[in-house]
Amino acid sequence: MTRYRPTVVEIDLDAVRHNVGLIKPEEAELMAVVKADGYGHGAVPVARATLEGGASRLGVALVEEGLALREAGIAAPILVMTECPPGSEKEALEAGLTPSVYSHGGLEGLAEAAHAAARPVAVHLKLDTGMHRVGLWPPEDAAVFARRILDAGLELEGVWTHFADSERDDEGTLRQLASFRSAVDALTAAGVRPGLLHAANSGATIRLPETRLDLVRPGAAVYGLDPGEGLAERSGLRPALAWLSAVAMVKRLPAGERLSYGGRYELGRASTVATVPVGYDDGYPRTAEGAEVLIGGARRPVAGTITMDQILVDCGDADVTPGDEVVLIGAQGDERITADELADRAGTIARAIATGIGTRVPREYVSTEGSG
Ligand SMILES: *Cc1c(COP(=O)(O)O)cnc(C)c1O
Repeated sequence: MTRYRPTVVEIDLDAVRHNVGLIKPEEAELMAVVKADGYGHGAVPVARATLEGGASRLGVALVEEGLALREAGIAAPILVMTECPPGSEKEALEAGLTPSVYSHGGLEGLAEAAHAAARPVAVHLKLDTGMHRVGLWPPEDAAVFARRILDAGLELEGVWTHFADSERDDEGTLRQLASFRSAVDALTAAGVRPGLLHAANSGATIRLPETRLDLVRPGAAVYGLDPGEGLAERSGLRPALAWLSAVAMVKRLPAGERLSYGGRYELGRASTVATVPVGYDDGYPRTAEGAEVLIGGARRPVAGTITMDQILVDCGDADVTPGDEVVLIGAQGDERITADELADRAGTIARAIATGIGTRVPREYVSTEGSG
């Protein structure tokens, strides 16, 4: 479809390749987490870039996400990180997705489908070591449950867990790791080979080498999104996503004029106000009052209520013309606005900004290296 509106997300796949190369441990495999449409970056192109960058596996949250990768011709191993919902098992197995299991009901449904498929099916057993979202609880049940997996005719390819606060809490993370290790030890002592052990999300991969085990499972870091605590910048990760638009209209307004719905922003002096065609439908957070954008290489405040399709920017006395580039996330001149900065303004996290960018905003793929 022809694109008339200048609002676009640009994804730098070289940054994705760079980030994967940067965080992949020498001694462990890397499973790139590409759930939620690759954190809003576009799952298929991003998945390909991660595999080129050194990832050997992909992780998704939904069977549907795994199927979409297969439909695009991606052949790498894909772990579905939640159990296959009842009814989805057959299709998941036909597509060669690797299921996670952690409940008796989930195991039963999967075993039935595997039996019908009459071919070996490998699964990963997920243990809950303290986050209490999904996973087998208590983790001490791992040995018995793993035996059930084998008795059901399935192969155990991996055992894994997930950390609740690896960006900040070393002690809690290491406690989860210890609980994971002792469950795996018990399982091994019971004569079951656990296969690949994995636990580390971005924060743990970057900060806690002892959590890397056989395989790391980063998401945010792959995209150069801050996992938390400024880790992305400190570790040399490059943001893959830039969010751009252009000035649609410019008005010179006198002091005292009020802007946007509710008139909640009053001009304290005569000012040049630019309208930019992006709004909360596009995922520009309605709560991001006080956010800034870049126009002409300078930071300019978003002024007044963020509307569904448009925002207003107070440009002071700057010389601004329709068509001027507006950077919502990314660099312009010497300035940069990160997804994390916008997230801070909106009271959320960088991941939620990236995944929240609406389907109305086209994703374009660019290459920054070797492009002259
Ligand atoms: C989302 C997710 C990840 C990746 O998390 P980041 O903090 O973005 O690196 C890893 N494992 C599981 C189970 C997840 O749900």
